[in-house]
Amino acid sequence: MKPTRRDWMAGTSAVLAAGTLAAPAVLGQAKPRVVVVGGGPGGATAAKYLAKDSAGAIAVTLVEENETYQTCFHSNLFIGGFKRYEEIVHRYDALASTHGIALVRSRATQIDRDRKEVVLSDGRRLPYDRLVLSPGIDLNYDSVPGWSKEAEEAMPHGWKPGRQTQLIREKLDAVPDGGTIVMIAPPNPYRCPPGPYERASMFAHVLQQSGRNKARIVILDPKESFSKQGVFMPDWEKRYSAMIEWLGPKVHDGITSVDPRTGTVVTGFETYENCAFVNVIPAQMAGAIARDAGLAPAGGYCAIDPATMKSVVDGDIVVLGDACNAGDMPKSAFSANNQAKVAAMVLRGELVGAQTFPARYLNTCWSLVDTDDAIKVGGRYEPKDGRIAAVETFISQPGESAEIRRQTQAENIAWYDAICADMFT
Ligand SMILES: Cc1cc2nc3c(=O)[nH]c(=O)nc-3n(C[C@H](O)[C@H](O)[C@H](O)COP(=O)(O)OP(=O)(O)OC[C@H]3O[C@@H](n4cnc5c(N)ncnc54)[C@H](O)[C@@H]3O)c2cc1C
Repeated sequence: MKPTRRDWMAGTSAVLAAGTLAAPAVLGQAKPRVVVVGGGPGGATAAKYLAKDSAGAIAVTLVEENETYQTCFHSNLFIGGFKRYEEIVHRYDALASTHGIALVRSRATQIDRDRKEVVLSDGRRLPYDRLVLSPGIDLNYDSVPGWSKEAEEAMPHGWKPGRQTQLIREKLDAVPDGGTIVMIAPPNPYRCPPGPYERASMFAHVLQQSGRNKARIVILDPKESFSKQGVFMPDWEKRYSAMIEWLGPKVHDGITSVDPRTGTVVTGFETYENCAFVNVIPAQMAGAIARDAGLAPAGGYCAIDPATMKSVVDGDIVVLGDACNAGDMPKSAFSANNQAKVAAMVLRGELVGAQTFPARYLNTCWSLVDTDDAIKVGGRYEPKDGRIAAVETFISQPGESAEIRRQTQAENIAWYDAICADMFT
């Protein structure tokens, strides 16, 4: 039988009872307790592998504020009309029913590092022996002058899942032929380096499919270059002719301001008035729970030990995914999922004496450019000189055959199904 919303609460009670009564976990005594905050590719994967591979020897609690997980990965495929929204929504039920993880649906508001407790929004406290943090990113609403949290409905970011993703598609559908979409791309480091450019491709695909060939997409980038640029740009030219225009900082001379009421974007070089739609993707930083625990420098990401994924500030805390500084690894779901498996192995070694191996990481980021036409970039990574360093990389080439591009998209689709099964079943 599938667990229900009530099981989240039942899980909470069980955990709280255990938390109150259990002695501090020491090998051979009470079950060691690992609390995981954040049910994304980092947190859900870590929770699953800690519970599954320790066969119940570790008490694992997953704290997640949302009832379902809506993936940012493949949200661009939803925007492009290649996936239905329901296909990017996932449930946590099997983590409880199959792996015995205690699910706590709540927001973690504080980490009491002295007492080794996670404080929840209603004041409850969850004690831990080890803590896994994978809260993802927070947006820096001050990074684009004139933009704000209040303006995210008028000028959506779509860089966090849910309503924002759907809003991007709604705004795209409302663009008239001849209208201008302005995308303000984020500065490094940010979630999903090729994501803005895959999204621009999906905008062009939808506009072209619907006969709005006179619409144009202007990307205002604070970066001199971007991920897979040498492949994206010739592909845009070939697929979408002059519809997508990319402007680096030397050309647009910086974003002076945006006005969400009038749809205006002012740069040092030009003013875009009456934009059909402005997609502001702001600067980003580690989720608040990690920053507030003192694990990240101001406004930044958490430094980790590349061999263990442990915070360099607190050895009882692991930081995964977008919230950490993972050296050469990009902020991707693939990376977070890989890092989680290394961390789960390390923690099992410490807590229940399981065998451990040297950390090795992998990543691939696929981007869909057009129907059955995807490109990829990726690599293999190892700890080196105090950071996670690339030891081998690969990237798609411009001018590849249609068959290679079709195969690359087939990999992309298969990867999505595999990672979601890996996280949630
Ligand atoms: C448009 C777009 C396209 C992308 N495409 C790809 C792709 O094709 N491939 C790829 O690999 N990656 C892709 N990504 C990147 C990917 O989505 C992220 O890198 C990944 O989700 C990071 O996982 P995470 O576990 O670090 O954080 P998240 O996925 O953000 O998960 C964090 C979770 O923690 C929860 N949480 C946060 N704070 C708290 C708290 N205090 N208490 C309780 N719960 C909390 C949140 O609700 C959330 O569920 C894309 C991203 C975007 C925006």
